[in-house]
Amino acid sequence: MGEYQLGVNVPVSDAMGSLKGELERIAADGWAWAELNLAACPFLVGGRMQPPAVDYAKGVMESVPLRYTAHACYGLDLRKEDDLHRQVLLNSVRVCAALGIHRLNLHFEAYSHDRQQEARWAQRVREAADLGGELGVALNVENVEIEDVRYALEAVVALDHPNVGMTLDLGHLWLSANYFHYDYLEAVKDCAPRVRHLHVNDNGGVFEPMRLTDFDLYNTLGRGYRFTFDRGDIHVAPFWGTAPLAGAFRLLKEAGYSGVWLCEYYSKSFHPLNGQIRQRVLEEIEKA
Ligand SMILES: [Zn+2]
Repeated sequence: MGEYQLGVNVPVSDAMGSLKGELERIAADGWAWAELNLAACPFLVGGRMQPPAVDYAKGVMESVPLRYTAHACYGLDLRKEDDLHRQVLLNSVRVCAALGIHRLNLHFEAYSHDRQQEARWAQRVREAADLGGELGVALNVENVEIEDVRYALEAVVALDHPNVGMTLDLGHLWLSANYFHYDYLEAVKDCAPRVRHLHVNDNGGVFEPMRLTDFDLYNTLGRGYRFTFDRGDIHVAPFWGTAPLAGAFRLLKEAGYSGVWLCEYYSKSFHPLNGQIRQRVLEEIEKA
């Protein structure tokens, strides 16, 4: 295994039977790690853990020469009073432990100026991090593009929990830095000491306001159209957009980052170029 750990996200599909093919394709493209969204298989139904799905996926995952990280289901909102979201997070930690996954990524989502909601968010992350500490699952909180990255960073710093770090999404950061008018590389430097996981992806740096005003409509835009016209958080392959990724790599290396360089993009749209995309990212890390 090389000096740098490179990975890619597993495309989300609603067919559990496609998991094996996706993992084999990822391994064949040369990646060492794969990130599994916990909604990719029916591991959780109504927040309840489903052992048959977990057992099936575990068998498939062990049959492919990859190591794994996990992403919590999109839509997880720990500021909601509803206990279901708390249960989803706690059982996501348990699913990871059952699958032998040691890192779980969750989105920070939108900061609330309601102090009670922020306190609820912190309390639930802390509870899940305590459980993860017992089960060997670390939590990493990811910045999203709808917010200044400092909210996520400050929340992680305030939690000050040994089992909670930050996932820095370099594509989300590019959109956010442009939209909220702050310096991209300064922000990378500020976050670097807390970064334990990375999402490497690209875009044109153009925030899509529809993401805030009409999320449902935003989600109906076609992918090819969004790629063509740089509409927001498009998750294209690293170095296919305009984010200053090479500068970010240099700062992360200087800060001693030793985690996975998880390339989080729509790899199905780039097939059969994923092997060469992986090689380019490796070369850029090496020379940064
Ligand atoms: Zn991400």
